Amino acid sequence: MDAKPVHDEDHHHGLFGHQTGGNLALAFFLNLAFTLIELVGGLLTNSVAILSDALHDFGDSFSLGLAWYMQKVAGRHPTPNYTYGYRRFTLLSALLNAVILLSGSAFVLVESIDRLFVPAETNAQGMFLLAILGVIVNGFAALRLKKGRSLNEKMVSLHLLEDVLGWVAVLVGSLVMMLTDVTWLDPALSIGISIFILINVVRNLRQALRVLLQGKPDQVDEAAIRQALADLPGVVATHDLHIWSMDSEYMVLSVHLVVAETTDRSAWQDLRHRAHDILADLGIDHATIEMEYETEACSWCE
Ligand SMILES: [Zn+2]
Ligand SMILES: [Zn+2]
Ligand SMILES: [Zn+2]
Repeated sequence: MDAKPVHDEDHHHGLFGHQTGGNLALAFFLNLAFTLIELVGGLLTNSVAILSDALHDFGDSFSLGLAWYMQKVAGRHPTPNYTYGYRRFTLLSALLNAVILLSGSAFVLVESIDRLFVPAETNAQGMFLLAILGVIVNGFAALRLKKGRSLNEKMVSLHLLEDVLGWVAVLVGSLVMMLTDVTWLDPALSIGISIFILINVVRNLRQALRVLLQGKPDQVDEAAIRQALADLPGVVATHDLHIWSMDSEYMVLSVHLVVAETTDRSAWQDLRHRAHDILADLGIDHATIEMEYETEACSWCE
């Protein structure tokens, strides 16, 4: 009676989720190419602000590449060894990405704090040119994805818009550095960007760890589900309710429903269908419901 198999494709993943068409591939290659330009540009201009932005964009590329890849493997069927399919593999990548960004931003932060006290010469003109390129590249990608109708495309677009704002800050900073000689502006910008990266990493890491530890994601209301099932006419009690998630988007539930002795075959089937409908409405993608009569002994009863 499984209405939705685990390999359903109408769900999204992680930070950037599934995209339709070539927008995702385009955003990935654009980000990756720009990351390389930033890395070289950051070293040439000796700017830690540009280097920290390169790290940020590397993280973005990683997430976009992962979402692009997952679009292909999410449709794969479960195997006897991986009975859920491949959804959980996104968690591994999310953790790997977090480790890269954490160590990367720790390195950049230490470097930037050093620079605050021991100022270094940075090429403000080079920074200015890179910042203009940054505004154009991120602005172009943001506008392109803004036309997308899916929630994911809107989310990516919003993120890229944030990135544009970061580049505007670098643009203004480099202008000020060209006109005056406030060398601390470059490390100050870098520290700001690194803190922005760290906040996002911690948020994503918390979400990934919650899923790994079989926790219930925030978007599912356990109390509401418990209440809705108990309110079903014919249901005497519920127990052994478990809610977890495959990848923070795909919700799984199992529960026991104790039904009245008077429940006949058709009422039994009707009850199960209604329970499945209610759970789907409350955000559950895959529910397993065990039903038992009041007089039955159940080893999982609380
Ligand atoms: Zn079934
Ligand atoms: Zn970004
Ligand atoms: Zn039971």
